Amino acid sequence: MIYDIVIIGSGPAGWTAAIYAARAELKPLVFEGSEPGGQLMTTTEVENFPGFVNGIQGPELMRVLRDQAKRFGTQIMSEVVESVDFSSRPYTVTTKEQIVKAKTIVISTGAKARRLGLESEQKLFGHGVSACATCDGFFFKGKNVIVVGGGDGAMEEANFLTRFAEKVTIVHRRDVFKASKIMQERVMDNPKIDIIWNAEVDEILGVAVGHVTGVRLKDTVNGETYEISIDGVFAAIGHEPNTSLFKGKVDLDEKGYIKTIPGTSRTNIEGVFAAGDVQDTRYRQAITAASSGCMAALDAEKSLTAYVSL
Ligand code: NDP
Repeated sequence: MIYDIVIIGSGPAGWTAAIYAARAELKPLVFEGSEPGGQLMTTTEVENFPGFVNGIQGPELMRVLRDQAKRFGTQIMSEVVESVDFSSRPYTVTTKEQIVKAKTIVISTGAKARRLGLESEQKLFGHGVSACATCDGFFFKGKNVIVVGGGDGAMEEANFLTRFAEKVTIVHRRDVFKASKIMQERVMDNPKIDIIWNAEVDEILGVAVGHVTGVRLKDTVNGETYEISIDGVFAAIGHEPNTSLFKGKVDLDEKGYIKTIPGTSRTNIEGVFAAGDVQDTRYRQAITAASSGCMAALDAEKSLTAYVSL
């Protein structure tokens, strides 16, 4: 059997692509991958996805989108794609269990925010630890938070958080920021932002009580450790796209994100599309991922029409 459309990845982009493709009667097949639902599965309350007046839990949102895709006949396989071959069409997707052929492919494997790599970070994720100020900043009204990192991302997160937090402290491991001048200036000009230079987070405190109460910092120059009390930790130390599978198969940018033709979901391979965070270094929101999933399904539908008439 040759599928019209195979979707690799099951975050908001993948499920939205599936909903559109299924409603166009393309009988999509979704490979859910090793982390079904993607980044939203580790988020608690999502309040900025339109349509949910009182917000929705991240995992619940993913369940709803999955059910919506299923309702229109999406076939779902809880398998991890191990390799792809885009050298001849129909394309080949291989998992441990099977080899599947597809006329079009949507890549929606997402990205992951880099983590500090602490056990306490993992335990307190969603309980004061976050990797997304846009998503979680609102929960820190009147509180004290730290932002870890020294790039544009950290500057942006810190500035954004001052809308809610009483005080934001940027913790950076060196004594200069990597961020662009203009972003640095915005931070320096913001009276609600403090900076701790030459420090890294050694431990996040509060595991015993189930929420962040502070951090133990380590001076990167003299190795001394000290504790500060805070309510939230935002790691803004970069993202990594999940594209190892596609290296050499489709054009990636210098940071490993899939390149798409601006304004479309098209990659350099005819019939292969990318949607969501795997191709987005800028917005990285559930709703923008969903909208690009819609674009990918519509682009795939168009490509199929052209392919079938060849
Ligand atoms: P970057 O990779 O640019 O910066 C990551 C920062 O985190 C660096 O300062 C780095 O430190 C620090 N870091 C990395 N790992 C650790 C760690 N384990 N512990 C402590 N600190 C760590 O990522 P960004 O997300 O900031 O930016 C990604 C891209 O997106 C960039 O091109 C950026 O310009 C762009 N961007 C643009 C924005 C805008 O223009 N409005 C907003 C946000 C992002 P060190 O400096 O020591 O390496």
